[in-house]
Amino acid sequence: MGNESYEVRGSSIHERGLFATKSLKAGARVVQYVGEKISKKEASERALEWEHKAKKSGEGLVYIFELDDQWDIDGRIGENPARYINHSCDGNCEAINDAGEIWIIAERSIKKGEELTYDYGYDMEHFLDHPCLCGTSQCVGFIVREDQRLKVRRLLKNKKINKPQSTNQFKSQSKI
Ligand SMILES: [Zn+2]
Repeated sequence: MGNESYEVRGSSIHERGLFATKSLKAGARVVQYVGEKISKKEASERALEWEHKAKKSGEGLVYIFELDDQWDIDGRIGENPARYINHSCDGNCEAINDAGEIWIIAERSIKKGEELTYDYGYDMEHFLDHPCLCGTSQCVGFIVREDQRLKVRRLLKNKKINKPQSTNQFKSQSKI
């Protein structure tokens, strides 16, 4: 190691984020999302448990990454800087599955110092639980995968649910 093109520091999106320490070309491999390979069943049990904890303490985020139909990766175990990457409604990276390895790839050219972000791909089912503070002009206000954002926008319009404000609890949490 020692040749990384990223660093972890405080983010205006959420707590800590991953930032480019040099300029990256579109298609560049940034970092592998590593962790413990676990079954879907194990993953949903852990996710539920952590969600309960998160609601009580305001921390303990879920870091489960879908690998394929059978397996997930628990990214909270061990050294995994990729887990600090925040979601954005207009991300500059994407996650790809390359022969069973998850890699975060630059989706476009990225300048030194830019925060690295990608689409978490959350289903809209519980979208109100996952506010987004990415601050981009594309922001729908919640972490929802791209192909469902239009639906969420319509829902918000009809139900008159307000987008989360940028001054909410997330920003006030500790930063390094
Ligand atoms: Zn957003």
